[in-house]
Amino acid sequence: MWWLAFMFCPRCLDQQVKDGLPVHRRAEWTLAFLTHCPQHQDEPLRHYCLCCHHEEPRWIITREGKDEEVQCRHCGAALSHWPRGTIDRFSPPLQLTLRLESTILHSLSGQAPDPFWVGNVDAETFANLVAELFALLAEPDRQGVLALADHLGGEDWWDKHRLGYGVVTTVASLQHWASRLKMVASMAKCLLGERSLQFFRFRGPRCVGQRDLYPFAILFRELPVERHEELIRRAMRWPDPLAEQVARVVRR
Ligand SMILES: [Zn+2]
Ligand SMILES: [Zn+2]
Repeated sequence: MWWLAFMFCPRCLDQQVKDGLPVHRRAEWTLAFLTHCPQHQDEPLRHYCLCCHHEEPRWIITREGKDEEVQCRHCGAALSHWPRGTIDRFSPPLQLTLRLESTILHSLSGQAPDPFWVGNVDAETFANLVAELFALLAEPDRQGVLALADHLGGEDWWDKHRLGYGVVTTVASLQHWASRLKMVASMAKCLLGERSLQFFRFRGPRCVGQRDLYPFAILFRELPVERHEELIRRAMRWPDPLAEQVARVVRR
């Protein structure tokens, strides 16, 4: 199961006009795990005009001097005038998370993932694993208020200028892009296990516990008890590094 979102990259739309192409949304932008444009990784995919905040803005193409440009029909702001970031400014965990987004996208078109993530597995195995983990991370916690991913996200992000995790994800609305980014970051933590502690910053010993049990010890703690057995059963079919992570927590 893959969620869909209605997003666009302003820089790609702008480039389409410059290249004389019809303005269109690229199919991959609808994939909910993709929070940033695969071509312009420093550009978050958007669903609203940055200037007037109209959701689902409509675009008009106008001629300014000798150049055509794409403008929001509601407020006239040109897409090319929107602020630009650079990926070098991003923190290591954000860069890692965006790298994972690309890896997942490529695995959907049959490209085997970098062994960095879970060793040597083929694209299909990886895509299936990621789909199962996303479903797990979106499950409600014991209280039925937060998603499991919320228990892995939170304090560990330091790109506050763009993403402060101010938004709490409730189970009913996982669509906000900062929340979706948190899902992908949580995915990175699951795939890397203890190795994710090299990239993500953690506050407070309480949330880490024994490093080699991170992060599945937290997921087991927050997952309703009646769901444990299914997670254990699924994990036995996962690639070795992940199956071992889960087995360590269960043995504890
Ligand atoms: Zn783009
Ligand atoms: Zn606008």
